[in-house]
This record gives sequence, C-alpha cells and structure tokens, in this order.
Amino acid sequence: MKCSICQGIQDELPTIVWKDEHWLLRHSTETNIEGYLILEPLRHLLDFSQATPEELSGYGKAVGMAMRAIHAVVKPDRIYTFSLGESAPHLHVHLIPRAPDFPRTYKARGVMQYPLVPGVNAAVMPEICEKMRKELKKQAALLG
Ligand SMILES: [Zn+2]
Repeated sequence: MKCSICQGIQDELPTIVWKDEHWLLRHSTETNIEGYLILEPLRHLLDFSQATPEELSGYGKAVGMAMRAIHAVVKPDRIYTFSLGESAPHLHVHLIPRAPDFPRTYKARGVMQYPLVPGVNAAVMPEICEKMRKELKKQAALLG
C-alpha cells in the first residue's frame, strides 16, 4: 500500500517546517489559510492507539510548539484542531488558525466546508514557511 503521507515525508516536501525523531510539521497546501499546519508522525500510524509512549509524550510538545508558532506568526483568534484520517489512513492532525476576519460561514464546524482551492499563494508560501521555521526553532529551545 502506498501512503501519500509516508511518501511526502520521504520526499522531504518544501513545506516541512519542523521535525524531530517522531513528529513532523508541514504547512498545508490544501487551502489559502496562511499558518495552517499539519502534524504527522514519521511512522505510519492510523491513530494515537498505535503510538508508542515516546511518540505520545512527544506529541504534547509538538502540538504546543505548533500552536505557539501559529499564534506568533499569524495571530488568529482561535486554532481549530482535529484529525479525521479519511483522506489518508496515516494520522495527521490539522491545526487551522481562525483569523479575526474569517468568513462567518466557515467558523467553528463550518471550517469543514472551507474551499480547498485556491491554495496559499505560491509566491507567499516560502516566506510563511520560513517564519514558521524560525518561530518553531525558538519554541523548541524554550520547551527543551
Ligand atoms: Zn503513512
């Protein structure tokens, strides 16, 4: 079975903003929401029930760092977090910043209807990823 997430990790996508021995963060290319990160385990897991104790404790730090970086870089009012595992059977947690001026229709559960196109402007993406990398490096140092 070919897993698109395992393949992306192996290909070292340019949208990867942070990685440790268990977890990886990349910027989503699915919508035009800047600062939308996806947290994935490096190992192929369907959900948290298959994670090792080390992976589970690393998750807490990773998700905390990711949220701190999102707050610092895009200053949202909220960060939506969920994992569905339907488009790829590899655990991936969506971390979606909800800006103060986010369209009302897409707030809260409405975020599931948010348009998948267009994606983040390709000219802006490297800059956002670089800001995220810098912030995540700072947060990793602070959290130890
Ligand atoms: Zn996989």
